Amino acid sequence: MPRVGFIGLGRMGHGMAGRYLDAGFAVALWNRSKAKADDLIARGAHWATSPAAAAAEADAVVTMVADDEASRAVWLGKDGAAAAMKSGTLAIECSTVSHRHALDMARALRGRGLIYIDCPVTGLPDAAAAGKLTLLVGADAADLDKARPFLDPLSTTIRHFGDVGSGTVYKLINNLMGAIQIAGIAEGLAIAEQAGLDMKLVLEAVETGVAASPQVIRHSKRMAARNFEGATFTAALRHKDAAYAVALAERLLRDAPLMGRAAVAAYDRAKSIAPDDDEARMIEIVSRSK
Ligand code: NAP
Repeated sequence: MPRVGFIGLGRMGHGMAGRYLDAGFAVALWNRSKAKADDLIARGAHWATSPAAAAAEADAVVTMVADDEASRAVWLGKDGAAAAMKSGTLAIECSTVSHRHALDMARALRGRGLIYIDCPVTGLPDAAAAGKLTLLVGADAADLDKARPFLDPLSTTIRHFGDVGSGTVYKLINNLMGAIQIAGIAEGLAIAEQAGLDMKLVLEAVETGVAASPQVIRHSKRMAARNFEGATFTAALRHKDAAYAVALAERLLRDAPLMGRAAVAAYDRAKSIAPDDDEARMIEIVSRSK
């Protein structure tokens, strides 16, 4: 029975950990707040009292936490996973982290004889719980092959972009483009509202016109209705991803007029008002800034 240590049971991680139980893996869990593990323990997972305890017996350790700070804490902090892992164990980072962080972690964990791969994901929490994520992998090909048995229960698609860090580069551009689009949808709809247009007609035109991306389809009706029920992706996470992406852009596209900066500033405001609310609340931020 393959043994996995799973760390981080938020909206995404909870469903991902459940997939390993469904697939018959032995699962040791750790999350900062234990209550989120209760139903998984009832399904057969073992509760570990620290990231190190979750990692000690594992063939692979998978992390799905918020950001760089959380990732560093669970891998390298007090009672962190890395110190407990046997040489040659897989360290699979599914959290969306900065590119710099992914490279730093790869260096630090390789220095301890571990195999670190960056494996951020696309797909919402329902896809995570159903094993239908797309995985964006940065790894040596041989390391990816070793990791595949631990990736298959989570995913329908694995995209291998190249060496460690490259999965994170793609994830960050994906979410930066999303941040710019979502801020753009909010701005367009807010203008239409202020101009007194028939919003039913506007929505129909937007959703069937050339600007209709999956983000537009996903967010425009909810924005116009101010329906922010059931946050799947929060303002704080979108801000984090866009900020990490802009940091990378500033290294690679020096002196370019970066659209991402405006999106980061807009999400900074959204985050300061309602960090844990749905990212679509951007319409309220844009509507307020008259
Ligand atoms: P979430 O629901 O906010 O969960 C965040 C997780 O990180 C929780 O387990 C939380 O622990 C843990 N955490 C936060 N700070 C920590 C710290 N300092 N030390 C230890 N643990 C810490 O977020 P999510 O939506 O599951 O997202 C998780 C990751 O997946 C993020 O990197 C996000 O960008 C990425 N992602 C999310 C989606 C989505 O649709 N939601 C899609 C693709 C990728 P507690 O439970 O104790 O708070």
